[in-house]
Amino acid sequence: MLGSMNDRALVLFSGGQDSSTCLAWALQRYAHVETLGFDYGQRHGVELQCRPVLLDALRRQFPAWAVRLGDDHVLDLSLLAQISSSALTEARAIELQASGLPNTFVPGRNLLFLNFAATLAYRRQLSVLVGGMCETDYSGYPDCRDNTLKALQVALSLGLDTRMVIETPLMWLDKADTWRLAQTLGGAPLVDLIVEHTHTCYLGQRGQRQVWGHGCGECPACVLRRQGWEGFLAQPSSRG
Ligand code: ZN
Repeated sequence: MLGSMNDRALVLFSGGQDSSTCLAWALQRYAHVETLGFDYGQRHGVELQCRPVLLDALRRQFPAWAVRLGDDHVLDLSLLAQISSSALTEARAIELQASGLPNTFVPGRNLLFLNFAATLAYRRQLSVLVGGMCETDYSGYPDCRDNTLKALQVALSLGLDTRMVIETPLMWLDKADTWRLAQTLGGAPLVDLIVEHTHTCYLGQRGQRQVWGHGCGECPACVLRRQGWEGFLAQPSSRG
């Protein structure tokens, strides 16, 4: 759904491929776009370090977007560590691991992120929240599902007594589609920028430069990114 050019948006921007594509999507649609990152004691701060580099590169290479790109915000959510792995919350640790989720999984993390984002958006007079949540890749995370986010949109709009829209441009895309979307939005320069400056690797490795970007090439996140890239190369344009 196309947004109005009068709308002002807040993009949940982690520094990864998905949220960077969402940022470009928002910059194409909205008159004013701000960005929000969360510092929650990630095992490695690589993603957070990628954020300002990406924002600088976007400003330099896309002047039409640069005029719309507003403030960047980083919220300290270090309290998440208390509810992810402390003795206080260990009761379901074994169950979590049996279901394939990491022990440090924070249930409902995206619900928390979106609530903080909505509160900030309210103060900044931003009425659209844009996030890279995706049912295709994260079916194990029920707070990324479309129905959850539609319900949250209603709850936020009621609770803040103002219109608050949640947009998730990647909801039904796979990783190859996400590269195709970047291609459509900003052509080869945007694809190159995302390849070079976004971070995906779970291990936090930046050193090795693969054709699809930096990373170890072995962890599940790198494998997913590589497979998406290969699918994109095999069929660069949208399936329509
Ligand atoms: Zn990796």
